[in-house]
Amino acid sequence: MNLENIMSDLEKKNPGQPEFLQAVKEVLETIIDVVRENPKYEAANIIDRIVEPDRVISFKVQWMDDKGKVHVNRGYRVQFNNAIGPYKGGIRFHPSVTLGGLKFLGFEQTFKNSLTTLPMGGAKGGSDFDPKGKSNAEIMRFCQAFMAELYKYVGPDTDIPAGDIGVGGREIGYMFGMYKKLVGEHHGVFTGKGRNWGGSLIRPEATGFGNVYFAEEMLKTRGESMKGKIVTVSGFGNVSWGSIIKANQLGARVVTISGPDGYVYDPDGISGDKVDYLLELRASNQDIVKPYTYEYPNAQFFEGKRPWEVKCDVALPCAIQNELNLEDAQNLVNNGVLCVSEGANMPCTPEAMELFLEHKILYGPGKASNAGGVATSGLEQTQNAMKLNWTAEEVEQKLHTIMKSIHEACVKHGKEEDGFVNYVKGSNIAGFIKVADAMIDQGVI
Ligand code: NDP
Repeated sequence: MNLENIMSDLEKKNPGQPEFLQAVKEVLETIIDVVRENPKYEAANIIDRIVEPDRVISFKVQWMDDKGKVHVNRGYRVQFNNAIGPYKGGIRFHPSVTLGGLKFLGFEQTFKNSLTTLPMGGAKGGSDFDPKGKSNAEIMRFCQAFMAELYKYVGPDTDIPAGDIGVGGREIGYMFGMYKKLVGEHHGVFTGKGRNWGGSLIRPEATGFGNVYFAEEMLKTRGESMKGKIVTVSGFGNVSWGSIIKANQLGARVVTISGPDGYVYDPDGISGDKVDYLLELRASNQDIVKPYTYEYPNAQFFEGKRPWEVKCDVALPCAIQNELNLEDAQNLVNNGVLCVSEGANMPCTPEAMELFLEHKILYGPGKASNAGGVATSGLEQTQNAMKLNWTAEEVEQKLHTIMKSIHEACVKHGKEEDGFVNYVKGSNIAGFIKVADAMIDQGVI
């Protein structure tokens, strides 16, 4: 088994999909020894099978804007692997959406879902539609047009989509409404639903909460905790918001948020009313980063810069992929960062990740540290199937337990001889074994 040959075959088969190839390479590098040591994986040709999505669905989405102009976008669903459960993964609406990007996310999702301890396969979907600046009516028409095609491929035991960038509660509502009309059934086909029609308490906060719980577990391995730590966060979307709330609850001080145009540094900490104010700005569809400094003059805005130049103990990249590069990682290391826990999917470039590992930083890769979102989606599915609702405390307690067990699995498979826990290796191996064994159990199908 030669990694270079596998990657060169994959490059030929998947031209123009660098993010997908980057994600596959990162996983294969860490699991190759497990495959070599266990002949059953090679005998079943698991590597070639696990890097190929089960199915890629691509479709046309036509919709009319408020002025009567007709637009065409492309919609996708990548159903990557359903060995351990029905396909499950978010839907992203963003102009940067490409098939390669979704294949990367679907591949990662397969391993992440495996880590959650819940029976969920991996998928991802989306469209290059840009929700920014669109009216509510335009968003609704787009979601309905998207679902008019996707409804054929999803279902509560087939494929259960959820939100992601550009897809929140409102978009899930519009998509679910269209699905229900077309199929004539009200069941848990989506997660992230409204609370009064099947949604779970804590789901909106879950990814961020889980991320901070995971950081806390990593810190514990060094006799540390979140209490009193200075934390830098990027973005101010769903994941950043949950991370900021939980970091504050655990006694840390969050000093940054960011957007595509720059970051805000608030030495007094971003908590309480300040978080509510940010939510208000976000809800009114305004730019959030700069206006924060008008309301809180002690804070400063750094145009065109990223928050990783700020001295901190814990860094939580929560915005978008590849938002933290080698230079940023070097800044963090020079400033004595203890722990980096990814709220976003693949926010650190491979070079940044290597630097963290080289310096033995506590580095939580997204597939482990941000798995709390999909885990709570799994809990939402369970509540829907049982036709009951758990309290916020019940859901959060289950989420906390899941994050602890993900951490344990990472330690089990990622602990190196010197005691350093390589969470990248640990999460990849733990996620891989479960999926690969299920594929072998189910035969060549
Ligand atoms: P949101 O759309 O709610 O938030 C994204 C945030 O990132 C926004 O504040 C956005 O700013 C900001 N942003 C976008 N581009 C940049 C950039 N280039 N530099 C800095 N900030 C930027 O998305 P989510 O919070 O839901 O998702 C964030 C990440 O977390 C994604 O990688 C997603 O895949 C991942 N994730 C999300 C889960 C969830 O449950 N939502 C679960 C697991 C992972 P602006 O609004 O101004 O563009």
